[in-house]
Amino acid sequence: MGLLLGLALRLRWRDLPLAALLAELPDLDHLGLFLPVPVLVSRGTLHNLFVCVVLPAGLAAWMRWRDVAPRWQRLALAAPLLLTSHLLLDMLPLDPLGGVGNVLLLYPLSPTPYTLDFQAAAYLSPATYSTITLMLLLLAGLAALTLWVAERRGLRPLAALAGAWLLVLPAAGLAGAIVPAPAYPNALLSVEAPRLRLPEGSILALVHNLGGTGLGAGALRLDVRDAHGLVVSASNPKGLAPGETWIVDLPVPGDARALGALTATLAHARTGHAYAAAKLAVERGHLDLALRLDAGSGPLQVVARNDGGLPAPAGSLRATATQNGRIVQNLTNDQPLPAGGSWTLPPAGSLGGALATWDLRSADDGTLYDRRAT
Ligand SMILES: [Zn+2]
Repeated sequence: MGLLLGLALRLRWRDLPLAALLAELPDLDHLGLFLPVPVLVSRGTLHNLFVCVVLPAGLAAWMRWRDVAPRWQRLALAAPLLLTSHLLLDMLPLDPLGGVGNVLLLYPLSPTPYTLDFQAAAYLSPATYSTITLMLLLLAGLAALTLWVAERRGLRPLAALAGAWLLVLPAAGLAGAIVPAPAYPNALLSVEAPRLRLPEGSILALVHNLGGTGLGAGALRLDVRDAHGLVVSASNPKGLAPGETWIVDLPVPGDARALGALTATLAHARTGHAYAAAKLAVERGHLDLALRLDAGSGPLQVVARNDGGLPAPAGSLRATATQNGRIVQNLTNDQPLPAGGSWTLPPAGSLGGALATWDLRSADDGTLYDRRAT
């Protein structure tokens, strides 16, 4: 970064390594993580506007007043740009850079961490590395442009440059590109294909981390509500790194068929910040049940038997009796039909008269399990 900007600034070759070092200088405050030096606050002590912009600009003015060797004056004038580029890169909320993207820009006056607006960064490019490339090109292009304008207007190029770069961070802040870092992890999350499955009575959804910060296990909560309140809630059992998906599969307690329109909200568990919300669709299917209609004990008596290993949930079966083309009985099982259990249907049809035909179907998608005449 320092080398690239040094080239764009047309520094002398022998000064390029110094430019590169200068661009990395703020990271010296990370030593505070390893050394017991209380003044070294990571991304604070040297990562702020006073050290990175005001100090070098003042130093350059002082050097000019004292008539220090031009070589050092040039470096001092280039310093605000070199140091600002470091702050901008550190504020990119992208995964390869640690994903946090927080810098204490106004340290020690304010403890607020700042970051580049993630939505704007993600909008530039969903591909992480090209966002960094864009940032580098933008900085180098701005440097070259400032020099070009300064030369055309007969200004002292590097002095114009130092002046111009004093304005970059405040201007970006005013434009809304730099925002106080949120207290919740800055990630782009989506809830895809949320649905209530019947007859299983379960809620399915896919939660994608499309980019930004990874989230630890339990950091997210998915709440499903209907008009009366919370129906069911789940939190992510494993971490959710960018590019990963959390498959939510939740059984609904109670009667899933009695629920009204459902909405899912994905929120940060600790701060409650809502990342995404979506309406649930209802997906109707049927269970593969070994159901059979059998003759009952009495005449005209029919019994539905569950010969398989799975229970039929309450409300999942419909039995209809038709006589002379007319439906004379239409019933739903209000109790589950357990494996090996039976459901006695009321008499339909009449002895000596027309026979009735019973159909046993899925109440959800109408699949026919069995048919039998009384
Ligand atoms: Zn840094």
